[in-house]
Order: sequence, then C-alpha cells, then structure tokens
Amino acid sequence: MMPREPIDARAVLDLVDLADLVRKRGVVLKERSGKLSGCCPFHQEKTPSFYVFKHPRPGHFHCFGCGVHGDAIAFVRRLDGIGFLDAVEQLGGPQRLTEADRQRIRRQEAEAERRRAASQRAKLENAAEIYVAAGPAEGSPVEAYLRGRGIDLDAIGGIPGVLRCGQVAYHWLDERTDPRAPRAERYVVLATLPAMVAVIQEPNGSMAGVHVTWLEPIDGRWTKAELADPITGEILSAKKMLGRSFGGAIRLTLLGPTLRAGEGIETSLSVLAALRRAGRGDAVWALGSRGNLAGGGMGLGPKKPGTREVTPGGRVRWQRRQSPIPDPARPGFVPPPGVTRFIWLGDNDDKDPEDGRLVVERGLARYRALGIDASVAWAAPGSDFNDMARKPPGETE
Ligand code: ZN
Repeated sequence: MMPREPIDARAVLDLVDLADLVRKRGVVLKERSGKLSGCCPFHQEKTPSFYVFKHPRPGHFHCFGCGVHGDAIAFVRRLDGIGFLDAVEQLGGPQRLTEADRQRIRRQEAEAERRRAASQRAKLENAAEIYVAAGPAEGSPVEAYLRGRGIDLDAIGGIPGVLRCGQVAYHWLDERTDPRAPRAERYVVLATLPAMVAVIQEPNGSMAGVHVTWLEPIDGRWTKAELADPITGEILSAKKMLGRSFGGAIRLTLLGPTLRAGEGIETSLSVLAALRRAGRGDAVWALGSRGNLAGGGMGLGPKKPGTREVTPGGRVRWQRRQSPIPDPARPGFVPPPGVTRFIWLGDNDDKDPEDGRLVVERGLARYRALGIDASVAWAAPGSDFNDMARKPPGETE
C-alpha cells in the first residue's frame, strides 16, 4: 500500500517516455509521416487509429476510433483498470506536491476541460451543417451505391430517413504544416464528393454526429471513394465519423422490443432487408464500430499466444488480447428503455476470430447486466452480412 500523500503528476509524467511505455504494454507503434500510430488496445480494430503524440511534453495518446485520450497515467489506469495512485507508483513513484502545484494543476485541468468542450461543440456544429446541407438519398449516388452493394432497398420500403446524400469536403491533416498553427489552417481539402451522410443519435434522440461515406463512380458504378494520402500515397478510409460516435446509434428503423445491431451501415441494412423479406419487424440499428457495441474493457485481456518477449531489463512481456470484462465507466451504446432482447450482428471477418469472440463476450455481459436477453448472430466465417447478401440469395440468416 502506498502512503496517501499528494502526488506531483507532472513530475511523474516527466519520468516517462509515453511511446516507450505504450510499446512495452504490447501496442505495436509504427511511425508514418512523423506520426506514431498502432491498433488501439482499448477497442477492437484492424486498421490503426490509436496515436501517440510526443509533443507537447509530457505527451498524450488519442484514439480516433473509440475516443480514449490521455497521458501516461491515464494509459496505465485504463489498461490495468487501476487507480491513480497505483498507476503513479507503477510509473516511478509519488512526488510531493506544493499548494502552488495543486493550484496550477487545477487551473490547467479547468482550461483543458474548457477547450475540450469548445472543440466538441465545434465538431457537433460541423456535423449538423453537413447533415442539414444533405438532401434525400432517393435517386442519388447513395441509392446507386447501396443497390450496388446488393442491398434490397425495396424490401426495406426505401432508404431509411437517417441516410442522406450530400456533397461533403474530405479534410486531411497536413503534417507538414506548423503544429502550433490553428487546427483549421492545418487541414487540406483533398476532394469534395457525393457522400452518404448518416445521422448518429444520442440515447435521448438528439444528434451526436454524422457518419460519412464518400462515394465516386469507378468503372461506371458508384462505390466508396479512393482517396490517397498525398505524402505516402496510401489509400485513406472513405468513412469518417464526425462529432461523437461512442454511445450513439444510426437508427435505421423505429425501435421495438427486439433490437438487432451491427457495426456498419451496409451490413445492418443487409440484415434488415433479410428480416423484412421474412416478414419480421425487428428493429435494426448500426452502431458504427465494434467498440461501441461492446463498450470499453477493464484490465488486460488474455495473453496472445506466441508473443512472449523478454525485455532487456529481464521482464517477461506478452501482447494482450481485448479484455472480456466490461468497464462500467465506458459503457458504449446502451439500449433505450423498452428493449428486452438484443442481438449483436457479428461481423466474422477478423484475421484472428478469438479477438472478435472476446469483444462480443464483453458486450453480451454488459447487456445481460442491464437485464436484457442478449445474444450474437455471427455472419458466415470470413464475411460480414453484406458480403453474404452479395452472394446468391438464400444464404443470409
Ligand atoms: Zn480505440
């Protein structure tokens, strides 16, 4: 047990190299165009959206997938599910804090909170503008795209009202610009293209943000746009969530006692069409990401076989899988009152299916703790439900 004495958090952080710490805890970080990124240890993902920023000192991490954010102390607390004092001890021990230090830290925290709130407001306003500027999806590239993905829109009774078509600018952060310049000046518009704009709603129904899928005609078919990173030439994701997405949902139907929810819009629509063809009225929503379906995880997951490594200091390290235990502090999506049955529409296209299984286990435990009858419907191995819908009929559900 540590003595309960005031801690100089900054002095502790100054002892720690955040990137080094993150790597030691099993995250493979790669440096690309001056940025350090890797797959997020706090949500399940295949493409890296977890970034470590060394500057300004003492550095911070941010995940563009699940929104986790913080310094080295926050990283250790979250990963190990431990308290502040235990995290500080792990990172190099307590330091005495003077009254002046305490006041400075309080001021810094208040200022950081003010900036966070302002930035959140600006993002939401931007998302609302995109949604309002968009028009109906009927007869638009969005309809062509969805039909091209094999989605039976006629079975659904047309395109759900939460999906619209807009002309949306694709912003890309130019790392070559001065990091001290205002953020708005550091972005470049790569292209302005038609896009599927889906409103993400908070549990109380208000707007949380938008999910945008940029489209372009390739070989005469409307398909996801191929936008390339101007520096590396690497293909950028044609989908972005703007505003808040964790905890929100794209409500493809009205709500009912049975709610089915998947990650992607296309996969969820494919299930919706199959249900309607079978004469079933279940509600289907898209939650945007597996992290949102599952909620955050507590502590370390099981060791990943074959990743044992001994550090120069003689300590044994393993890469860890996702934790199957829900973290009550980061619940993710919570079904509204009235939902008695929840069916997770599980994409089954992980390279390592065990990773997907653990995340689903965590989510189902969370829904069951809310008194909801929760289960998973897996897509066929190696696919999601949209892949299945594009195959000959009779193979879905
Ligand atoms: Zn994440």
